[in-house]
Amino acid sequence: MRELEERIRQEGIVREGNVLKVDSFLNHQCDVDLYNRMGAEWARRFKGVPVDKILTIEASGIGIACATAPHFNNVPVVFARKSQSINLDGEQYVAKVHSYTHGNDNTVIVAKRFLKPGENVLLIDDFLANGCALDGLIEICKQAKATVVGIGVAIEKGFQPGGKRLREAGYDVESLAIVKSMDVATGDIEFEAQSN
Ligand code: 5GP
Repeated sequence: MRELEERIRQEGIVREGNVLKVDSFLNHQCDVDLYNRMGAEWARRFKGVPVDKILTIEASGIGIACATAPHFNNVPVVFARKSQSINLDGEQYVAKVHSYTHGNDNTVIVAKRFLKPGENVLLIDDFLANGCALDGLIEICKQAKATVVGIGVAIEKGFQPGGKRLREAGYDVESLAIVKSMDVATGDIEFEAQSN
């Protein structure tokens, strides 16, 4: 998606440890208009795919998923929580996720009443690096006996293994921008050419 690539080029900051900071429009300040166009782009790419629910992970995935839902018939958006909360009650699906940016392990939790057997689930997240966050969401869908019908990612770091591994496992991963390389010294960011 050309517009997203341009924004990353203009505003993205390359940090040590292969971290791309895009908090002026995606991870802290939110450009909702852009999220809306990202949602439209996923709807175009997943045309004809049945989607009953969108599942994402807190925190950065929530805004993107909520702007995407209107493009999928306003299906409900569920976000996996990273810690227990007094608002979480009843039976839960629980999976472990390693955090790339924080270097620690998190538990992700979804209340069983919000994910049902047989539901077609579209996973949405802001970044795909090693794929651990998405692994956690996939694990939760497996526990729920729900079907992952597609994975929409805003920014994939193509030089990290998650995307390749998930595609080889058979998942339809649609990343709106795939970073081929980024240089911490110059700040240069290159993208993989996308045909769609
Ligand atoms: P993964 O689990 O695929 O290794 O990493 C994905 C998760 O880590 C995303 O949900 C995102 O929050 C965070 N993440 C990974 N790489 C980056 C990055 O370069 N920049 C930012 N802002 N977040 C990242």
